[in-house]
Amino acid sequence: MQVSEAPAAETVGVAARLRAVAERIADAEAAAGREPGSVELVAVAKTHPAEVVRHALEAGHRAFGENRVQEAKAKWLALREAVPDAALHLIGPLQTNKARDAVALFDTIETVDRPKLAATLAREMDRTGRRPSCLVEVNTGEETRKAGILPAKADAFIAACRDEYGLPVEGLMCVPPLDEEPALHFALLAEIARRNGLERLSMGMSADFETAIRFGATHVRLGTAVFGPRRATAP
Ligand SMILES: *Cc1c(COP(=O)(O)O)cnc(C)c1O
Repeated sequence: MQVSEAPAAETVGVAARLRAVAERIADAEAAAGREPGSVELVAVAKTHPAEVVRHALEAGHRAFGENRVQEAKAKWLALREAVPDAALHLIGPLQTNKARDAVALFDTIETVDRPKLAATLAREMDRTGRRPSCLVEVNTGEETRKAGILPAKADAFIAACRDEYGLPVEGLMCVPPLDEEPALHFALLAEIARRNGLERLSMGMSADFETAIRFGATHVRLGTAVFGPRRATAP
């Protein structure tokens, strides 16, 4: 990637926020008695245009989250070519009819949450030979309008993803209810991961990632803390 000699003001802004966030992550790791570097930052770029993402790439950041397949496809085509080692995480709900694009584009799919989707992803991976890491999303708050498998069904679904569909399941993801103490949800997700022998835990957003790290997060998904407020409309 071309790095200009005098970085634009916005690059400095994103770079400074990345540094500040890295420091807070390191502090939270230390406070929790965790290995330095055990928590990875996934910078959530949804609604932010490619030129803003470019600032984070120029600052050396490589792991990014996107919510929507279409938005990510448009935004990342050129970025990917310029920075082949960028790692893309899908963190939004995935419709079955977008599974093909998702397998082609993403390195990690964090929102596997139902048998039909798991079967479609498995077929697409077999067809293409591309095998993005999968996380199972758990609806820890049992919210009716939220994506994710219910906690009571998680063990059976995780087993089916691995044994029946042969997906590369590496961990779990959750988005706690807005109005509840997130710690309870993080603890529940960590417990489901432990009893299923899963190591990756994607949990914690800008408002609660230090708590998530205390409860074992290996990935925190931060949008606002890295890029500032979200834009009204996606590019
Ligand atoms: C938008 C989003 C985030 C980032 O949220 P912030 O509060 O801006 O850090 C994380 N995870 C998911 C699933 C999201 O949709």
